[in-house]
Amino acid sequence: MVVEVKEADIAPSGGASPGEYGERLMTLVRELYPFCRSLTGDGVRQTLQALRRLIPIEIHEVPTGTQIYDWRAPQEWNIRDAYVKNAAGERVIDFKKSNLHVMGYSEPVHARMSLQELRPKLHSLPDHPDWIPFRTSYFRRDWAFSLTHRQLLALEDGEYEVCIDSTLEDGSLTYGELYIEGSQPDEVLISTHVCHPSLCNDNLSGIVVAAYFAHILRSTPRRYSYRFVFVPAQIGSLAWLSRNEGKLHNIKHGLVLVALGDDGDLTYKRSRHATAEIDRVVEHTLRHAERAARVMDFWPHGNDERQYSSPGFNLPVGAIMRTPCGTFDQYHTSADDPTFVTAAALDRSLRWCNEIAATLEGNRTYLNLNPKGEPQLGRRGLYRTTGDRTGGGKVKEMPILWVLNLSDGEHSLLDIAERSGLPFLEIRAAADALLECNLLQLCDTGAARC
Ligand code: ZN
Repeated sequence: MVVEVKEADIAPSGGASPGEYGERLMTLVRELYPFCRSLTGDGVRQTLQALRRLIPIEIHEVPTGTQIYDWRAPQEWNIRDAYVKNAAGERVIDFKKSNLHVMGYSEPVHARMSLQELRPKLHSLPDHPDWIPFRTSYFRRDWAFSLTHRQLLALEDGEYEVCIDSTLEDGSLTYGELYIEGSQPDEVLISTHVCHPSLCNDNLSGIVVAAYFAHILRSTPRRYSYRFVFVPAQIGSLAWLSRNEGKLHNIKHGLVLVALGDDGDLTYKRSRHATAEIDRVVEHTLRHAERAARVMDFWPHGNDERQYSSPGFNLPVGAIMRTPCGTFDQYHTSADDPTFVTAAALDRSLRWCNEIAATLEGNRTYLNLNPKGEPQLGRRGLYRTTGDRTGGGKVKEMPILWVLNLSDGEHSLLDIAERSGLPFLEIRAAADALLECNLLQLCDTGAARC
């Protein structure tokens, strides 16, 4: 069940105290965990429908066979049940216990066979004998089961009944989209994949953090418009791109959200541009993070950023995560379960999203209206008469002096934060105080520069 959040509970941009959203995020993870998501099918629809109780996502269907650049929308896959029964009729592998037991996109099968015939269709992880591996075969028709290595070793010779009650037929590919209008048409694209079955860090963490990020943004004053897309990985982002080429010029910044629920350090994968405003904004938030953080250069693999960043689009889209996919042992196994993600990690990831949005929103360029010498700050209540230069009051002195000095129409507030080494939010607060005293004038037209 999705916990309903009263609008009054929502604190704007990072104002939530630690842990405020953690339990709500975990509740949503647990609710979505059992759904059998895949590249297509009812698991994706169920997931998007559940999110619609929190945010008004539009659900789009792309018919099977639709040309998507060099690809075509695949046939739709759905599954009701699957098992392997031994000679005594006992389910020795049971889809109802874990949807990871069946390889994603397995074609239907119902047959009897010896263990020797069945053996090539069974996948396990000898190094992690209690974990079930996640396997898929999206673009080659096949079927298979995954099981723990202990289960595999316990299988005795004899005849087995094998059943996968699935359908693989013309239907559609499903994705979700939410547009949150700001005062400018310029957009921030937020993308997360929705195609993994019972796996939590990859990818339920991205889904729930994106959903609550959207929920918070909807009740926060904003100048950017935000477009959230919930897509099956790769083919889903390409499907969205192919249907929205006319809107892409509005996208000024973008982020892919993935693997945000484990306890690893906050990690940023730069956009293909490397020095786009989104890169500088995210890296700035990490420089002032309370613990270690990691920044990685772009590489053309990973999640949907690789599609948004292909040369025909070249969108400035980075990716935020904690431990990168493929580098934690539990990745794509049944051990990536609700005990692997934590409320505290999810909450911190959501606050990080809010910090990034607050920095993007607040990054404007101003002109000092009293540029000949320093203005008399004391007269305006901006100078602490005790001479305390470290601040401690509402607005600190050093950020004020930095903003006054560099607000020559050439430097954005992020430029000033980087040059001064001060946190962006302190620079932003100083600019707000100076604006109130009519010492600054906005001189950009929406973008950060004049
Ligand atoms: Zn994955």
